[in-house]
Amino acid sequence: MELYKQHQIKLYNSLSGKKEIFKPIIDGYIGMYVCGPTVYSNVHLGNVRTFMSFDMIYRYFMHLGYKVRYVRNITDAGHLTDDNAEDKISTKARLEKLEPMEIVQRYTVDFHEVLKEYNFLSPSIEPTATGHIVEQIEAIQTIIDNGLAYVINGSVYFDVLKYNEKENYGILSKRIIEDAIENTRELDGQSDKKNPQDFALWKKAEPEHIQRWNSPWSEGFPGWHLECTVMSTKYLGEQFDIHGGGMDLKFPHHECEIAQAQACNHKAPVNYWMHTNMLNLNGKKMSKSTGNSILPGEIYKGNNEILSKAFSPSVTRFFIMQAHYRSILDLSNDALLASEKGYNRLMNAQQLIDTIVPSNTSSLDINIWKQNCYDAMNDDFNSPMLIAQLFEGVKFVNLLVENKATLTIDDLAIFRNTFNTFVFDILGLESLNSDNNSDKLSGVVELMIAMRNEARVNKDWALSDKIRDELLDLGIQLKDGKEGTTFSI
Ligand code: AMP
Ligand code: ZN
Repeated sequence: MELYKQHQIKLYNSLSGKKEIFKPIIDGYIGMYVCGPTVYSNVHLGNVRTFMSFDMIYRYFMHLGYKVRYVRNITDAGHLTDDNAEDKISTKARLEKLEPMEIVQRYTVDFHEVLKEYNFLSPSIEPTATGHIVEQIEAIQTIIDNGLAYVINGSVYFDVLKYNEKENYGILSKRIIEDAIENTRELDGQSDKKNPQDFALWKKAEPEHIQRWNSPWSEGFPGWHLECTVMSTKYLGEQFDIHGGGMDLKFPHHECEIAQAQACNHKAPVNYWMHTNMLNLNGKKMSKSTGNSILPGEIYKGNNEILSKAFSPSVTRFFIMQAHYRSILDLSNDALLASEKGYNRLMNAQQLIDTIVPSNTSSLDINIWKQNCYDAMNDDFNSPMLIAQLFEGVKFVNLLVENKATLTIDDLAIFRNTFNTFVFDILGLESLNSDNNSDKLSGVVELMIAMRNEARVNKDWALSDKIRDELLDLGIQLKDGKEGTTFSI
């Protein structure tokens, strides 16, 4: 029997504001859509946190035997935060004098490299907005035909008031329309719209706008909200199980997604809306636009001014998993140091399990412990509760190693499998050995830096240059600064 038949998951649905029993539309199958990154700059650790939460959720569903189609898009067609703000991909392209697709390529590659470092599973489909312009134009036409959008000066806007006559704009964010108006800044050019709360489905491109496509209304580009509606419908159907993203996307992005899908298909598109909470730095949301951010690479290479040392991707992953996905998490040096200790304890215990000798009787109830691990995950993917259970497991390991407790061969096998499954397959941590190698490499480079410093003190410039150049040949770059020498690999 599939595992999912034995485990009932309760998940917090932002739509109802309650934990609900999860029931997929088709038994055994799950359709899940998560808003992906806007690829105009490097992803920061806050973005990684959101994607990692859904990676853990995806991993758990798969472990339970569900067949999951997991769609996570790439926003590569600009990112309009409001109707008149400049498209961030075009702006960046102009500043850097690059083709927009060069920007997109560079940061998509960076995104994938980061995900690989942090041991993410690939989604089933990773569609791009620019690959679905035709579908977006079709959806706009349908919304116009259904009387819920209007064309002005080559741009198309969604008519929120008209929509709200029959439907509920605000169903997800619980904002009432008056609120939405107050939150819409008056900007030049907004006079185009009939009402301030209306949002763009298609924008006519100004002459300086680089990313542009032909459409029945003008040469222009689609509004940001539309791509997710179109790609989720295309790959998961008009109604699907789960839609996720960070809390900051609830309004307007997800609210608009619901309105667009209702306007196209006359159905609520999503059964369960899941939102992750923010990763904070210095008490504020980590964000690329305010510069209050740290990049994943800066953390594992240690080249940043916030942390005292480098922290491996597994330690950082463990740090993120120690908080529930709906709680705010604050990044700090102390928190990462504590996570590093915890991660090392967990991994040492994991390695010790293999040294335990089975006995004729069991003095520990492993099945209750195993059930507790599942109960934690079944309760809205409570990874901190799961980690608390895994530390119960660490206590068991210590008792077993010290011969203060016993397990039969069968119970020992259950213990080992369960421990490994939750640590590696579900939390997605990697074993101490794989991270050890990067620690060892860092240690060796630190040693070379110390030897080079000694050579410089002795004015042995030939040796100091040789060390620097040969490390560079190996792809390791030394940088001399006020606070000493740092390196990047
Ligand atoms: P963006 O590329 O800005 O669209 O963001 C990609 C994803 O990262 C979205 O789901 C955001 O909600 C999420 N996100 C952005 N900032 C943070 C943060 N500080 N903590 C957690 N998630 C975030
Ligand atoms: Zn989206």
